[in-house]
Amino acid sequence: MSRAAIFLDRDGVLNHLVHNPATGRMESPLTPADVRLIDGVVPALRRLQHAGYPLILVSNQPNYALGKSTLDALNAIHARLITELLHAGIRFRRFCYCLHHPKGVVPGYSGLCVCRKPSPWFLLRARDDFGFSLSHCWMIGDQPTDTQCGRAAGVRTIRLDSGAPVQVRPTSPAADHLVWRLPEAADIILRHRPCR
Ligand SMILES: [Mg+2]
Ligand SMILES: [Zn+2]
Repeated sequence: MSRAAIFLDRDGVLNHLVHNPATGRMESPLTPADVRLIDGVVPALRRLQHAGYPLILVSNQPNYALGKSTLDALNAIHARLITELLHAGIRFRRFCYCLHHPKGVVPGYSGLCVCRKPSPWFLLRARDDFGFSLSHCWMIGDQPTDTQCGRAAGVRTIRLDSGAPVQVRPTSPAADHLVWRLPEAADIILRHRPCR
């Protein structure tokens, strides 16, 4: 089994963020119908999967803790995502969701937790459970907290900056690589793959 895995953030990496009229901000999907995979994600994941990399999703989903969503809605959004991925022949090894929030309002989901990114907790658990070599793994995300999480775990980091072409943005000092979208991240990972 591969000792190198790819850890992926979800919102803004696999699926589009959605405009929430209540807040005026781009946010996580609030309904299954909001789940739309970003162009290029399926072929990029297929290439990584075909190269033998286990795919692990690592996502903060605090909307239930914050009183903005139900657990049923979060589960339905997850079900929609994995259905779309399975239809495309893509299987994740594990889905890791932190449902907590430090300022949550729902008992049992609020306050500090061990798993919310930038904590590397889910990456360390996956290492222990699957025997991954973290220095050969990658973390891909669109937020600084994703990069911090990957750094804390000792994996290589790629930050997606979908907001503008990468050429006009300075390279983030925090991430090992800054690219526009997932296909470019897959290019980097496959280029760094050791010869067999
Ligand atoms: Mg994100
Ligand atoms: Zn948590």
